[in-house]
Amino acid sequence: MAKVLIIGAGVAGASAALALDSAGWDVVVVDKARRPGGRCATRRLAPDRHSPWFDYGAQYFTARDTAFRARVESDLAAGVLERWSPAVCMAEHAASGWQLKRSPDERERLVGPEGLNHWVRYVFEQADIDVRCGQPVRRLSRTSQGWRADLGEHGRFNADAIVLTVPPVQARRLLGEQAAVLPALAEADRMLLPCHSLVVAAPALPDCQAIFVKDGPLSWCADNSHKAGHTDTSARLWTLHAGPEFSAAHLEDTPESIATTLTREFAAITGTSTRHMRLVRTHRWRYARPGPAAEPLADRCQAARDERIVLAGDWLAGGRVEGAWLSGAAAAAQLSE
Ligand SMILES: Cc1cc2nc3c(=O)[nH]c(=O)nc-3n(C[C@H](O)[C@H](O)[C@H](O)COP(=O)(O)OP(=O)(O)OC[C@H]3O[C@@H](n4cnc5c(N)ncnc54)[C@H](O)[C@@H]3O)c2cc1C
Repeated sequence: MAKVLIIGAGVAGASAALALDSAGWDVVVVDKARRPGGRCATRRLAPDRHSPWFDYGAQYFTARDTAFRARVESDLAAGVLERWSPAVCMAEHAASGWQLKRSPDERERLVGPEGLNHWVRYVFEQADIDVRCGQPVRRLSRTSQGWRADLGEHGRFNADAIVLTVPPVQARRLLGEQAAVLPALAEADRMLLPCHSLVVAAPALPDCQAIFVKDGPLSWCADNSHKAGHTDTSARLWTLHAGPEFSAAHLEDTPESIATTLTREFAAITGTSTRHMRLVRTHRWRYARPGPAAEPLADRCQAARDERIVLAGDWLAGGRVEGAWLSGAAAAAQLSE
């Protein structure tokens, strides 16, 4: 049985793993993080499983592609995905100050009943994929048989083929000079833009659980407690995302200073006071979402076929969770051809 090493246990890694496993490959997935999920990142306030949770990476996803849609329908039926219908608002800064208007946007938004990370983990577990977390790949080298991954203290791993789903800057680093076989990595630095993410406990808002912000440092605010189905009106866990321009301009600022700016902005937009907010978590996503330079590829992945290595990830397929899923599936198809 041919052995494939998938590097990265995010959505692209999950979808590639499923497809390659079904195609008869011996699949192993490694990830440097403590658990699978990648940018579908969820935490709980406290370690116990009844503690409130919040998504601080991807917030929800949409599904249009037929094959992805079929997967989503089956996961909705299994109860590992749910539809989230928040009252969505648009925040605009006018001469008179912030204006919060209800948006007619009622697209289907898919979330995990215990956060999006839970869904990605379910995908791996349901297919019984061998996922090894806490194992960063430090280097990839070509061998006469295929590829060798240097896993530092975890040893070395020899595989016939590689699916590389890590962000492009990291992919280029792992490959060193061999990155030249994958032209998509030439402009790796320009592909994914950063995002400062903040979670605060703050009051619920009447008729508003999600905000697209048009001006200023923030771009998105979401009431996780509403997502989790909590209907009480006490403090909610709000995720606040800064926009790419602000995040890039303040990439190295301290978490405290980012938190001060973003909570003040959130208070101004919602007409509340920072005195009623408590900081829960800050996170800097250095590689968050594809920017304008990340043109989707027709193949949704890039294969150096003679080398038996394929790049996959959202940045090659139009971004978002759906793009990552389709890219992973496309990478598996390339290897199985
Ligand atoms: C703040 C934020 C908000 C977002 N909002 C949305 C949204 O609302 N809707 C939506 O559809 N999408 C959203 N996205 C995008 C979505 O999260 C991504 O498109 C998707 O999760 C990408 O999946 P991926 O598998 O391509 O990459 P990733 O999830 O980044 O997976 C790559 C994996 O590689 C691992 N890795 C990296 N280096 C190594 C190494 N050396 N060795 C081993 N493992 C390694 C990482 O730990 C990671 O788990 C958002 C993203 C962010 C950050």
